[in-house]
Amino acid sequence: MTATQAPQALDFECETGNYHTFCPISCVAWLYQKIEDSFFLVIGTKTCGYFLQNAMGVMIFAEPRYAMAELEEGDISAQLNDYEELKRLCLQIKRDRNPSVIVWIGTCTTEIIKMDLEGLAPKLEAEIGIPIVTARANGLDYAFTQGEDTVLAAMVHKCPKQAPVVEEEKQERNAIQKLLHFGRKQEDVAAQESEYVDHPPLVLFGSMPDPVVTNLTLELKKQGIKVSGWLPAKRYTELPVIEEGYYVAGVNPFLSRTATTLMRRRKCKLIGAPFPIGPDGTRAWIEKICSVFSIEPKGLEEREAQIWASLEDYVKLLRGKSVFFMGDNLLEISLARFLIRCGMSCPEIGIPYMDKRYQKAELDLLAKTCQEMGVPAPKIIEKPDNYNQIQRIYELKPDLVITGMAHANPMEARGINTKWSVEFTFAQIHGFTNARDVLELATRPLRRNNNLKELGWEKLVKEEAKI
Ligand code: SF4
Repeated sequence: MTATQAPQALDFECETGNYHTFCPISCVAWLYQKIEDSFFLVIGTKTCGYFLQNAMGVMIFAEPRYAMAELEEGDISAQLNDYEELKRLCLQIKRDRNPSVIVWIGTCTTEIIKMDLEGLAPKLEAEIGIPIVTARANGLDYAFTQGEDTVLAAMVHKCPKQAPVVEEEKQERNAIQKLLHFGRKQEDVAAQESEYVDHPPLVLFGSMPDPVVTNLTLELKKQGIKVSGWLPAKRYTELPVIEEGYYVAGVNPFLSRTATTLMRRRKCKLIGAPFPIGPDGTRAWIEKICSVFSIEPKGLEEREAQIWASLEDYVKLLRGKSVFFMGDNLLEISLARFLIRCGMSCPEIGIPYMDKRYQKAELDLLAKTCQEMGVPAPKIIEKPDNYNQIQRIYELKPDLVITGMAHANPMEARGINTKWSVEFTFAQIHGFTNARDVLELATRPLRRNNNLKELGWEKLVKEEAKI
């Protein structure tokens, strides 16, 4: 390869970390829904409670399996006994909900008063007979989706170390397999097993809605790859077996701690691949897994082309436009890469935290995509400063800004198209078939503002009013 062919090197910068994002305790909102027999106990203050109550919106009225353990003055000054207080609450949870696991979410306050949650958990677990997982998903250390990362990293320790010997039990654990074999006869199942290529066990990690789990599992099955389990599974009691030497692959870019824990503590081999977001990412993800198992991928090129063809009506709207990511959920690199492939340019990608090792394959694909599409490589700003970013937005005048709710309306009022970033976290965006949903979200403000253009109300604030 000559120097001119090499993709342009990406430019990384780091700012002040003065930016808006959700607190990582928000991960309870999607994790309690995913792990059906869990209960999440957030040990914090009213500040944390107010945030969750508002951020979760209507879900709050559906008797969620989460609660706040609100610390009082006596807890802070150590006049009350932490162990006894937590025991009282956990017994109440056991009595009312009888979950298979209680997840304690540590917060800023438990960090500052140095409450030893990790030390208390094993003692209390033995006493009340329910497993307790401790995750420190606080606003001091992490941003938004990283909350899931801390919970999954803690759950790695609870995954069984050995495949169960009893056949019945094995079937119970392997819920995904059961799902795939649903309604089939025993002989058919045996015949189907032989469709798989012989490869070492593969476990995928990342919390996904069930339809996406099925979708990605079936995509890999088409290549003869068997998914032995997902972390997390639908139920805590179905956590996958993880033995030394198993292969693991992540489906989301914010799971670097989970990846590290799987590698260091359970001696797994990590498949570093781009993430299955967008048809390009999904193809690269499957190809990388295939290449690790020395499998020749079948029909992926045609599949990708087919999906792109079906996306053309959306891509038409995006081609030649520019997008600016303010950065708050760590999905930014993958989304930017996909949107650049759609023909957009991207001057800046803000991101709360950048693990260059875990995201290496995704960063390489981003550089390659920019080169192939003939657009300059974006500047990647870690720990961005929202104030500075707004000045840059005024200068660059991007066609679309992906940002949080704090800035969305003020920018819209100034004639800047915005998309609220949190929706990308909750929408189904993974795999070939969901690529359409990503573009549906990204193009919505453009379509809406196109429709409203004739009204001539683009700017609703005085020229001199700055944010
Ligand atoms: S940042 Fe800290 S205090 Fe605020 S909601 Fe999150 S954990 Fe609670």
